[in-house]
Amino acid sequence: KRLEDLNVADTTCGYCAVGCRFDLYSDGEEILAARPTEEEDAPVNGISTCVKGKFGYDFINSDDRLTTPLVRDENGEFREASWDEALTRVAEGLGDIRDQHGGEALSLIASSKATNEENYLMGKFARQVLGTNSVDNCNRLCHSSTVAGLAKTYGYGAASISTEDLEIADCILLTGSNTTEAHPVLATRIKQNVRDGADLLVFDPREIQIAEYADQYSQVAPGYDAVWINGITRYIVNNDLHDEAFVEERTTGFEDVKESVQEFTPERVEEVTGVPHEEIVSAAETIAEADSCVFGWTLGLTEHSHGTENVMAMANLAAVTGNLGKPGTGVSPFRGQNNVQGGGGDMGPLPDNFPGYQDIADDEIRAKFEEAWDCDISGEYGYYTTQMFLAADDDDIKGMYIIGENAALSEPGVNHAEDVLEELDFLVVQDLFLNETAQYADVVLPASSFVEKTGTFTNTDRTVQMVKQVMEPKGDSRPDWEILQDLANRMGRAWDYDDTAEIMREVNSLTPLYGGISHERVEANGGLQWPCPDEDHPGTERLYAEEFNTENGKANLQAVGYSEPAETPDDDYPYTLTTGRVLYQYHTGTMTHREEGIMKYTPSDFVEIHPETAESLGVESGDLVTLESRRGEIVVPAQVTDRVGPDNVFVPIHFAESAVNRLTDEEHLDPAAATPEFKVSAVSLRAA
Ligand code: SF4
Repeated sequence: KRLEDLNVADTTCGYCAVGCRFDLYSDGEEILAARPTEEEDAPVNGISTCVKGKFGYDFINSDDRLTTPLVRDENGEFREASWDEALTRVAEGLGDIRDQHGGEALSLIASSKATNEENYLMGKFARQVLGTNSVDNCNRLCHSSTVAGLAKTYGYGAASISTEDLEIADCILLTGSNTTEAHPVLATRIKQNVRDGADLLVFDPREIQIAEYADQYSQVAPGYDAVWINGITRYIVNNDLHDEAFVEERTTGFEDVKESVQEFTPERVEEVTGVPHEEIVSAAETIAEADSCVFGWTLGLTEHSHGTENVMAMANLAAVTGNLGKPGTGVSPFRGQNNVQGGGGDMGPLPDNFPGYQDIADDEIRAKFEEAWDCDISGEYGYYTTQMFLAADDDDIKGMYIIGENAALSEPGVNHAEDVLEELDFLVVQDLFLNETAQYADVVLPASSFVEKTGTFTNTDRTVQMVKQVMEPKGDSRPDWEILQDLANRMGRAWDYDDTAEIMREVNSLTPLYGGISHERVEANGGLQWPCPDEDHPGTERLYAEEFNTENGKANLQAVGYSEPAETPDDDYPYTLTTGRVLYQYHTGTMTHREEGIMKYTPSDFVEIHPETAESLGVESGDLVTLESRRGEIVVPAQVTDRVGPDNVFVPIHFAESAVNRLTDEEHLDPAAATPEFKVSAVSLRAA
């Protein structure tokens, strides 16, 4: 088939939050080609796409796609149903719990794969229709500690940079980020900058691929990031290498931070983290000597029981070195799912915030939404996702509506999560596939994929971009926003949106952060970065150029002390397990497992084991190994490698057969953000 004979849409990638844009070509049945948008039109990627963006489309037309609603019959088996029957069952199931126990007995998990407009409606549906503030999303499992840590210090819980800052910074510090595999196009940009002379510092428990490009790679013990970060800050401030003018004019709390970091001498940092003290000194000097530095991180920094403190320590370091608000400087949490920035946070499917991070406990703000949505809203925060599963143990949550999230694999301690899903009075799952979570559902609703609908995604540098329909929804599947509208109307409301542009206009009217971000402007500009308060505003390339988003306009630095992981190795469980991603897979595999070409490269999970450890266990690469923690056990093939240290092992998160979250801990959560400690679990190993 010739390209000129096909349907084409200029759209945004549905995999990761780099937000690559490309033209997608379809014959109406399947996606036949993806071509990167020309650079001048694509402010975000501009270089290329990775393997997933280029080839990862078989899932859309997979035979496994849900094409009709499913309901449980009298024998407990799924049978196909009409939309009318399925939605009636949902309205009755959720409505009965709401009427008998109050809306707070219900919770909704929103989807960071869905569009901004759909996520706005998910938050509205929870509060207006269900009457609950217990609405949350996958952000809780990954970067919510970033949001909490940066918001406490600078005011906004997001990346301060534009992607292009990664290309012009004189120095880049990366930590807890396997950038090559999790954010491939960002890694390409960073490597290009390194080739052009930038310094790259990598701190990570694993000697990941991007470490090959680093001027300095330091292998750190998992769980002690604030220690080495504070050690760098200490060296800088004790040697007067900090940016005195910036600290004086634009920050508060410097003296507290200076005092608090004194315990983190290079020698102590070495003792706790394993990083040689000379490397702390050399990293500090490199950062201090650079004209500009970007501090980038992913989940290695955040998925801890003290992730918020880790992020605050990093925020202190960026501020004392004056690396904020100027070209080539800033903080950059690389977000994971395609729309976790917009859908997961900005649009307010959150238990404590309305869209635009407006606090639900603020009476004036709450009154604004009560009037707009014509409902009463409690000012008491609801449950975070991780807390919903604990609350269900106490029968405080009796029903859940889960949209585009595979909680039965992605929650910490999935043995516990499975028990909760099994015991709920009523569970609705809305997804493309009958995934592991849907197996527990009373009703399953078939949703459309991102190529079958129109809306917007917001990427990791706050750029809102268009998502365009290029195919009709498969079978009887429907876009999430249409399903929610139908359901809201069956549950007593009168929603009447014609399209997602109209939903975005409602967002604009209620959300100063997105006040000027209409579909028309996004389309005309090829993307707009928030904050963008009105339609004359050009968007904000770089945060904090003039002031911070705090009451006093300054970065409010706060002391971060010593913390340990919730669980440390002992005689029974002597190794530290960390989890993460691989290039060819995506999350729990619902999309990538349907890609024949992709599955050839990574057909299963594995455990990375250091050669010395492997020898002591008597295993070689390919042999099966049993990993056991206090919460469960899994069996996976070994991959013997010195990428990991002798005390650590690593397992990816992508396969149900070896669900690594059977080993992780659902109880010890970050006190500020309720993020679980995915990056540190004590485990034992044995040949299977
Ligand atoms: Fe898609 Fe991310 Fe790959 Fe870009 S880097 S093509 S956004 S998966």
